[in-house]
Amino acid sequence: MTSREQVLEISASATSFTAVCEACATQDSEEGFSRSTFAGRLELDLDHGTFLCRRGHQVRVERVERPAAAAEAAA
Ligand SMILES: [Zn+2]
Repeated sequence: MTSREQVLEISASATSFTAVCEACATQDSEEGFSRSTFAGRLELDLDHGTFLCRRGHQVRVERVERPAAAAEAAA
């Protein structure tokens, strides 16, 4: 059994997110369900974190660079 870590990117200003667990989505589709989502929260002072979906699959969450601030700096 292979364990593949899913990486989810959230926006620079996001503190909470809702994600689809890919492992659960695969499992759910096999069992006839539509898809599986889970919610998490990442405080603004954290750049990344690791979360578990409701079935315990590991999902890594990474905060992307701040595109708005970068655009303003370039303009
Ligand atoms: Zn899962």
